Formats: sequence, structure tokens, C-alpha cells
Amino acid sequence: SATLYIVATPIGHLGDISQRAAGVLAEVAVIAAEDTRHTQKLLQHLQVQTPLLSLHEHNESQRAGRILERLNRGDNVALVSDAGTPLISDPGYELVRLCRQHGVKVSPIPGACAAIAALSASGLPTHGFHFSGFLPVKQQARTKVIESLADSSYTTVFYEAPRRIRDTVAMLVEVLGGDRRCVLAKELTKTFETFVGDTAAEILDWLDADPVHQKGEFVLMVGPAEPTEHGVAPEAKALLTELTVELP
Ligand code: SAM
Repeated sequence: SATLYIVATPIGHLGDISQRAAGVLAEVAVIAAEDTRHTQKLLQHLQVQTPLLSLHEHNESQRAGRILERLNRGDNVALVSDAGTPLISDPGYELVRLCRQHGVKVSPIPGACAAIAALSASGLPTHGFHFSGFLPVKQQARTKVIESLADSSYTTVFYEAPRRIRDTVAMLVEVLGGDRRCVLAKELTKTFETFVGDTAAEILDWLDADPVHQKGEFVLMVGPAEPTEHGVAPEAKALLTELTVELP
């Protein structure tokens, strides 16, 4: 029976395409791509001539049904996004869900993912982490998400657009304090790859030092809340307070 392959593609450096990904892209009957012109460039580099069809945010619901039909007819299909791993802040969720509901085999071809690449080299704790994707655009909702990090015990990973990166980091400084451990990863795997940190205040200073610093692709990471001066973690402190109320 046919398989839907979820194929990761490079996030900047073309050398990051895996041999298996190149093989699958060459062998499938069709590649569903977020932006067919963008993916065509990757296919040219790989000298692959597989036909493309578009699957993006706005047509996914209709396209998913058609792709399922092709899979049912026995055609293998690959799904790619513009960069990195499909479905990670990218289209594909509806298609994968539909395929699984209909018993179609879905198989990942792993590779680059900006969140994981950033986290792995950040120096922030990785024992557990929360991937939060893009922050909401509306100010109030953004503030709420950032406030929710005040007591977090894990590193939180965000994607952020260049036009909002300065505002978001300023908000981190305001809400969580300038000395909160944060790391900004920029232009991963590209010529000007940069890691900035170790605090929110240092990142804000760096962004303000040169307008060029605010251009590019960013992964923003917020470290866990530090234990308070008395060495008690915020969660433990909240629990203690609650327990005290219960005591006679
Ligand atoms: N699916 C992709 C993945 O696996 O990383 C992410 C897609 S999302 C639409 C694009 C966002 O990922 C960018 O706005 C940026 O925040 C982040 N990103 C992608 N490539 C990056 C890179 N080379 N360096 C830093 N961040 C990157």
C-alpha cells in the first residue's frame, strides 16, 4: 500500500538534506509543497523531476482529500514545507490526520528543525522543553503567554518574525525581568549564524546595537525560572503557600 512521507528539508544550508530525503523525493509520484516555486529550487539542486502540487494553509482542507485519493490509488506522496520539518509551525496537520484516520501509512523522513537545532546549541536546560511556535499577534494574548512563563520549570522555544523580535524581547525584559536566562538563535546553518544571550537584557541591547541585528530568522528561547533567593523553586513556594492556608 502507498505511503505519505513527511520529509524534512534544510533550514538554510542545502547540505542538510539527508540522502534518504533526496531518495524519497526522487521516487514518490508527487510532492505536496507549501510553495511549489520555493521547493522547485531544492529539486533543481537535487536534480529531481518529481511533479509538485501545492498544499498550504488556505487550500489544505480541499487538497488533503485529493491527496488521500491518490494514496488510495497506490501513489506514494511526499509532503515538504519551505524549510525544516513539515507540521512544525507549518501546514500538514489536516493531511496527516486524515491519512491516519483512513489507515494510510504515514512515515517521517527526519531532518532539520529550527527549534531543535537552536535548543541543542543554546546552553539552556534541555531535560524537558516546551515548543510554543509563534506568539499570538494580538498584544494582550502575547502578554498572557509571556506572563505564563514566570514560574516555568522548562525551557520554552518560540519562533519569531523579524518585525516583532525587538518588541517581544522588550516584553520579556518587562514581564520576566532583564536577568531572566534567554538565548536568541539567528540564521541557523547560514553564513551569519549567531547565538546571543545569556539574559533577556543582553539580547535587547544586542538587537538595539545595530538595525541589521533585527533582520533574519529567529528562534527565541526562554530558560526556566531560577529558584528564588531562598533556594525554593516558584512551584514549590506556591504549593507551600497553599498548604499553609490549609493548616489549622
Ligand atoms: N517547520 C520549520 C522548522 O522545522 O523549523 C519552521 C517553519 S516556521 C513557518 C518558520 C520560522 O522558523 C521562522 O520564522 C523562524 O522563526 C524559524 N526558522 C526557520 N529557519 C530558521 C533558521 N535558519 N534560523 C533561525 N530560525 C529559523
